[in-house]
Amino acid sequence: MARCLLALVFCVCLLPSYAQRDCGTPAYTETMQRSFPAMPREILALEGTGVTASPIPDTAVIVIPVVVHVVYNNEKQNISDKQILSQIEALNADFNGLNADLSRVPAYFKPLAASVGIRFELARVTPQGAPTNGINRVKTSTKYFKDNDGVKFTRSGGVDAWDPSRYMNIWVCDLDLSLLGYASFPGGPKDRDGVVIDYKVFGTIGDLQAPYNKGRTATHEVGHWLGLKHLWGDGYCGDDGIDDTPQQQQMSRGCPTGQVHSCGSTPYGDMYMNFMDFTNDGCMYMFTLGQRKAMRRLFSQDPLRSALAASDVLTATPSQMPEFKGVDLVAEPVTSPVRMFPNPVIDQLTIEFEDLKWAGYSVAQVFNHLGQQVAQQPLSGSRPALNLGNLKPGLYFVQLKGNGGETYRQKIVKQ
Ligand code: ZN
Ligand code: CA
Repeated sequence: MARCLLALVFCVCLLPSYAQRDCGTPAYTETMQRSFPAMPREILALEGTGVTASPIPDTAVIVIPVVVHVVYNNEKQNISDKQILSQIEALNADFNGLNADLSRVPAYFKPLAASVGIRFELARVTPQGAPTNGINRVKTSTKYFKDNDGVKFTRSGGVDAWDPSRYMNIWVCDLDLSLLGYASFPGGPKDRDGVVIDYKVFGTIGDLQAPYNKGRTATHEVGHWLGLKHLWGDGYCGDDGIDDTPQQQQMSRGCPTGQVHSCGSTPYGDMYMNFMDFTNDGCMYMFTLGQRKAMRRLFSQDPLRSALAASDVLTATPSQMPEFKGVDLVAEPVTSPVRMFPNPVIDQLTIEFEDLKWAGYSVAQVFNHLGQQVAQQPLSGSRPALNLGNLKPGLYFVQLKGNGGETYRQKIVKQ
């Protein structure tokens, strides 16, 4: 282990300055393969083995539930919900051929460009059954993280993965030096499954580090997480195992133009605009049909990925009450002093106070199952009524609030 760590530190020190893209996945994978020898040497070894599910029809969109763990040491690193959503949007564009710059693919590569047909959605239910917006914020005293998975465990200042057979885990944190991100290949240890991205390159809005401001670090790392290798196979004119990506000598940098023939054996030269190269965010914009096939194949061959495609955390009804953050709750009494009826309700919900001393509530707030407020109404009289006619059918929480901040809440079903 000491040797691995030493090798890791050595690699990290050799990384180029932040001006150049660097992906930690190859070095990380090497360390993992030394630490966990049972791991498949290459994801392609999965081919033809361990088939766990029936093949996914070629036209089907595969939906992946995502949890984004924001592990922050200061408020700058605690990026906004909006910035996180912008990354999810970028992933969905890039994996579905909806990125505007796809039109820049040169004519000779156009027939190879592919929509992968994979959609990413933030999870709606936590592993404990509580409602969530798919964003898990955790404050840490750790100043920055390295590619040694510290961010993936609560015991080392990060946060434990949510069950990777139900969630794709993305950790966003401050990564050391020039490291933009790294991913685990399929087939690795379950509790380390997922991708890690530096907060300065996550999303397309916010305080981002140009030229990595179009969310392509995550696209690239999710490509690895779905089994793709770098185009040059991490060797001199190496092999990425994909037939339709041309061989290339090494990584491309910056924003090349025209044809670059680095290995001399391909008619149109390097595909430097591929997401699995090292070009700037603004200069990578395609996956190929071969890469599409490889990524989608996983969902019938890798147990963890196929389970994910069938996960229920986007549709399950939360079984727990939402947490009302910032609201001072009183404990719910065993015998209820407030009656709300009818329940289920169609239009009008009547509130009745059994004991007049409870009737000091001045306002009623209605929250949906995600804990978002959807209605509010002032209360007056001893038997007020709420009009819920315009709410969609579902589970709601009616919360009564007094002028002194005291609250009372009850679960209501709207029909
Ligand atoms: Zn990479
Ligand atoms: Ca290739």
